[in-house]
Amino acid sequence: MLLRSGVIEGVGHADAMRERYPNLPLQEFPGCAVMPGLVNAHTHLSLTCLKGLMPPQPFASWLRQIPVATRALGRDDIAASIALGAAQCTQAGVTVIGEIALGPESVAVAADAGLGGRFFWEALGIPVGRLGALLHDLEYPAETRNCTIRQRCGISPHTPYTSGPELLKATHALAAQRGGGFAIHVAESEAETELLRSGTGPLTDLATRLADGFVAPKTTPVSYLDDLGVLQDAVAVHCTRLLPVDIPKLKKRARGVVLCPRSNAYLENGAPPIARLAESGLPIGLGTDSLASNTSLDLFEEARALSALAPKLSAERIVRMMTMEGATVLGMDDAFGTFDRGRQADLSVFRLERTEDPYDELLRHADRHALEAVLSGGIWRILHGQPTFPVSFVERGSQLAAMKASLALDDLRMP
Ligand SMILES: [Zn+2]
Repeated sequence: MLLRSGVIEGVGHADAMRERYPNLPLQEFPGCAVMPGLVNAHTHLSLTCLKGLMPPQPFASWLRQIPVATRALGRDDIAASIALGAAQCTQAGVTVIGEIALGPESVAVAADAGLGGRFFWEALGIPVGRLGALLHDLEYPAETRNCTIRQRCGISPHTPYTSGPELLKATHALAAQRGGGFAIHVAESEAETELLRSGTGPLTDLATRLADGFVAPKTTPVSYLDDLGVLQDAVAVHCTRLLPVDIPKLKKRARGVVLCPRSNAYLENGAPPIARLAESGLPIGLGTDSLASNTSLDLFEEARALSALAPKLSAERIVRMMTMEGATVLGMDDAFGTFDRGRQADLSVFRLERTEDPYDELLRHADRHALEAVLSGGIWRILHGQPTFPVSFVERGSQLAAMKASLALDDLRMP
């Protein structure tokens, strides 16, 4: 592969490339699989400091604790948490993320660490009339069409029950107007299904408090979004609790689906209908979600969890979900996910014991411990298995944030 100025200029057989470009510096990886930089299509890097602070538990009780923990964090803490998450992504071979962003620091810190991706600004829990002021305060770019090739913006109203119907429509319209993406957590829990079907259950209080104008639509979460007109080009995250009627609607409208099976298990939400989604022709990305509901940001561990739930899914398809399909779901397949000429020079290199069936071997054994090298935007971030950046410095920054969040959660749990 020939790389120049941070992009892929050509791909060819090693001998032919060597002969054609005898004077260019050469990097070889014998016994390794060289892949496009992996795409972790759903992350909240700002929550990295919460790792291990919230044990596995039912979704609704977990969700109530998140604002308690995050309110204890200042902007420096959040930036430190994002930096640690970005380092852990890189150390797992990920160069592209679908990040739920809290503000410009999400983009800036992730970009510093070499991550590209789509950054969905989160806007929830407000009346629609306050959207303009909120996005102004969060420094949402006025013209997202002009974001960089590597970092692009979008918007996320969180869920169908933490943003009211008018806010859902307004955030969707804004994303369409400004050329950004639109991501939403949808059909994640049984509690969400119950709330939308009958207006009851453990999420009722939250919806009353946050989702201005919300009335139970007596339908599924996917149908609700479709009826509001906001499923068009949406990135539908989770899709754990789908009815058969939902899948054609997603196929017709959504840009794609992101599956996060380990987060779903952590929060007792069950498993998505993986086989049926995979057969539907919808692009599917894989996401780790945050470390508030997962044990690592390692995308191959996520892939193995997916494979265990859908053993008939081929290793090749799962690897595609981690690369090309993930990039498509984020609307960034013009820059990432394949080795086509003109794509970003993003590579992840994993050591393999055997290379006869690289897809199977990758799915079985690849993870952060088998990572040999990572290149993002033409810059080596990992080489010979070692990071080229100071990891301990990044870890120390996040420890204070973890302590503050932990104290706030302890207060909450005091009788
Ligand atoms: Zn999420």
